[in-house]
Amino acid sequence: GLTEKLNATFKKLRGKGRLTENDVREAMREVRLALLEADVGYKVVKDFVATVTERAVGSDVLDSLTPAQQVIKIVNEELTKLMGGGTARLSMANSGPTVVMMVGLQGAGKTTTTAKLAGLMRRQLGKRPLLAACDVYRPAAIEQLKVVGGQLDLPVFEQGQGDPVQIAENAIRHARDHGSDMVFLDTAGRLHVDESLMDELKRMKAAVHPNEILLVVDAMTGQDAVNAATAFDEALGIDGVVLTKLDGDARGGAALSIRASTGKPIKFVGTGEKLDMIEPFHPDRMASRILGMGDMLSFIEKAQQTYDENQAAKLEEKLRKNRLTLQDYYEQLQQLRNMGDLSQIASMMPGALGRQMAGATIDDKALAHTEAIILSMTPLERENPQILNASRKKRIAAGCGLEVVDVNRLLKQFDMMQQLTKQMTRGRLSKMGGGGLG
Ligand code: GDP
Ligand code: MG
Repeated sequence: GLTEKLNATFKKLRGKGRLTENDVREAMREVRLALLEADVGYKVVKDFVATVTERAVGSDVLDSLTPAQQVIKIVNEELTKLMGGGTARLSMANSGPTVVMMVGLQGAGKTTTTAKLAGLMRRQLGKRPLLAACDVYRPAAIEQLKVVGGQLDLPVFEQGQGDPVQIAENAIRHARDHGSDMVFLDTAGRLHVDESLMDELKRMKAAVHPNEILLVVDAMTGQDAVNAATAFDEALGIDGVVLTKLDGDARGGAALSIRASTGKPIKFVGTGEKLDMIEPFHPDRMASRILGMGDMLSFIEKAQQTYDENQAAKLEEKLRKNRLTLQDYYEQLQQLRNMGDLSQIASMMPGALGRQMAGATIDDKALAHTEAIILSMTPLERENPQILNASRKKRIAAGCGLEVVDVNRLLKQFDMMQQLTKQMTRGRLSKMGGGGLG
């Protein structure tokens, strides 16, 4: 992943307090590659790298972060900003039914997304949507909308293969008369943008004055999706984009390029064929995806949020007095567990103890053993591990269904941790909890 690459890049500058232009330039080479691999357009990458470089050069490396994390933090923030920052909503009509026109190329996912989105609006906002079959050129398209509508128990308005503009108008009238407060118009697509399609969509737009024109694009098509977005926006004007098929292996760079080249927000993403697989678009998650880091950034934040400052202070106090007990160790492990995926989180914890724990508790199973052993000890034993003689160890092992060697392994780990923590008690631990990402 990008973090590893950047870590390698930064190996030589550990301990530096401030990022120089050269450091950043080297890091940006990796970031550039990651973006291009994610299918972000060349021009967008170039502008982006310039922005980040300007911000990163001369910035102080936070004590709680490595230089690599610092750069990733800036890159992530700027990517998120570029994609709109927060989650965009659909604009709703003040009176009468809200009209949402779904447009896009053939196969992008319009019909599926029409049903998904209507279902989401009903689920989340209690709306009563109507679906309208305005893709009249293939009888199969009408049938498909009826099928997906039926699966979600949503009403579908259709008038066979008539004039799509008239059907759209009739659907809105029908919605008004039957208490539907949203109308989703499933329109026709073509393999390529062409004039007759755009003419039809423009006529429809002029006739029904939609509250939203949503362009549906297939994330897997990368630059083609970007071109489609530009073409539809220029010819028709769009209000937002739905990016489908994100469950595929597309890195999602299209999201960034679409936003950068049209200025229009991605509003929703499709994440699977099933009809509930649609979500509001989260720029921060997409940023992580583009950088190829999974949810690592949320792990960094989570680790810092979950870690309780008071407990950090108490722990620090104990460490100063060199009185770290197995009970403390147990509580630390519990906190790590509360955060979710342990090995990832522990290694991301911006503190030396986190990194040590990552080494000591590589997986959940090892952690479960460690916990079971500590729980089998008496409070006195937890506070004073030195009293653990052979017979006590045997009793503990039997109590948790493990072997004496397991108990010994834990004690050795704990001992190692104590040795290491002794070396870092001079003020460093306080950064673990209170540091924050800045
Ligand atoms: P339209 O031609 O634009 O109306 O596209 P359709 O709605 O017919 O979708 C084309 C194909 O893409 C269908 O097989 C859908 O099941 C599939 N599809 C749509 N959205 C998604 C998605 O988010 N994930 C996956 N895996 N498939 C999708
Ligand atoms: Mg369709």
